[in-house]
Amino acid sequence: MTFISCNCGKCKIFLNYSKILYSLFCACEDCRQAAEWGFINGGLKPDKLQKLIYFRSDLSKVSGKKWMHSFQLRQKADSTRVYCTNCYSIIGIDHTNYNDTMFMLIPKLCKVNIDTSITPIAAIQMQDYIFDDKQNLSKDIKFIETYDPLLTKSYKLKYSKPEGISFKNLISQIRGPKILNLKKGESLI
Ligand SMILES: [Zn+2]
Ligand SMILES: [Zn+2]
Repeated sequence: MTFISCNCGKCKIFLNYSKILYSLFCACEDCRQAAEWGFINGGLKPDKLQKLIYFRSDLSKVSGKKWMHSFQLRQKADSTRVYCTNCYSIIGIDHTNYNDTMFMLIPKLCKVNIDTSITPIAAIQMQDYIFDDKQNLSKDIKFIETYDPLLTKSYKLKYSKPEGISFKNLISQIRGPKILNLKKGESLI
């Protein structure tokens, strides 16, 4: 059974659908700051250009809810991230645009027991990339300065009631969301 686990193993979510819908690289400030905040609290060091993968929002089983806590970076945030409060892995992310059909995660920052080597379709939000090694990034990636909604259009799922619980539903069952009020433009590490 496919599952996502935090790095210490206290939190686990099991998936009804193990197919990765698609993958992106994302350079946006929110992805960066959220990962940095996890890192300064004890999580793994994030990649400069983070790889994201998307799964259907349908969980068959959840363990370790008491260790899970949701956080948002700022007031009126679109993204809600679930962290393990023991190891500060991010085990999943909801965004209002997903409409509870899917959720996202960063395989570098947690554990997934299936092959996550899927090739990202593009690197988005490159306008937010703060590191000075842009010229060293692979030339095989399609780089996009902002976000093009057409890019992922064909991967969008129609809402259907999950067999198990949705990721949003899980968020409603754990502590949070706590708003971190991180400053825009700030680097935490
Ligand atoms: Zn953990
Ligand atoms: Zn991002």
